Amino acid sequence: MAVPQNKVTRSRRNMRRSHDALVPGNPAECSNCGELKRPHHVCAACGHYDEREVVARTDEFDLDEEDAA
Ligand SMILES: [Zn+2]
Repeated sequence: MAVPQNKVTRSRRNMRRSHDALVPGNPAECSNCGELKRPHHVCAACGHYDEREVVARTDEFDLDEEDAA
């Protein structure tokens, strides 16, 4: 089993961990619905990207309709 050659001091450990904090994302407002979305991603709320709808939202369909068969 590999064994560390030297003890990592509290100071060194804490210096290493100084970069470990999570940073918030960079949310941008959807140009269609105003919902916050990830930049360069399709809006999860309305399915729009670059001012047009690229993903149809499932809640706009009636999944119980029988005429598809
Ligand atoms: Zn949207």
